[in-house]
Amino acid sequence: MRVLMVAPPGAGKGTQGAVIAAHFDIPHIATGDLLRDHVARRTDLGRAVQHHLDEGELVPDRIVLDMVRAEMVEARDRGGYVLDGVPRSLSQAQELYKIGRELEMTADVALHLKAEDDELIRRLLARAALEHRSDDNEAVIRHRLDLYHTITHPIVAWYAKRGILVSVDAMRPAERVGRQILTALETMRPLLQHVPEHAREPIDLTGLSAAFGTTDTARRAVRTEGSRA
Ligand code: AMP
Repeated sequence: MRVLMVAPPGAGKGTQGAVIAAHFDIPHIATGDLLRDHVARRTDLGRAVQHHLDEGELVPDRIVLDMVRAEMVEARDRGGYVLDGVPRSLSQAQELYKIGRELEMTADVALHLKAEDDELIRRLLARAALEHRSDDNEAVIRHRLDLYHTITHPIVAWYAKRGILVSVDAMRPAERVGRQILTALETMRPLLQHVPEHAREPIDLTGLSAAFGTTDTARRAVRTEGSRA
């Protein structure tokens, strides 16, 4: 199973990436974690990227893609990967596709975690209080969200066109989102070897929340239906 995630900061990429990696026993390649590790170890790369991270700016493509390529080579014998934090722009998506073609391991699924800004800001500020990440203060959070909307989000349409997009409502509690993701990926797994990439259809699971645990909207809808019956 080869999965990449497209999601705004705070949507749960890290949590869901770990769930997917554990379930399919594949490596979880998280570019933010890899970069933070370099910063913590004060490597040359870490020193070169620290200010990008602190200010919520994107690290240059070449640095990120070289790092990801090396991780994908390692992942080759592990039956797949889950990419967390990359691609973050159309140019990264295209470069990643080239790397995938070259290594014969392009993504099977682009998993889009959908969530609203107010909820993301609430979650990121809560995380700031616990983890003290250098980029979890309100000004930088808002900047990272802006970058997501302008630069990252447009790649969702690119994956929809390629037919490998799965969209999930990430506003619900993490375990429910995780259950829905694993159900979708398990359902697709037997098809992946048989359906060529060009024949795949994008899947939108964001309207299916009620079946996987109710949101407030779904709860209200259920109550309204109930009172009508
Ligand atoms: P994350 O942990 O995914 O929120 O990433 C934290 C920070 O690492 C981002 O705000 C960027 O500064 C940097 N970063 C992570 N992934 C990438 C990427 N694919 N391209 C550029 N910068 C990245």
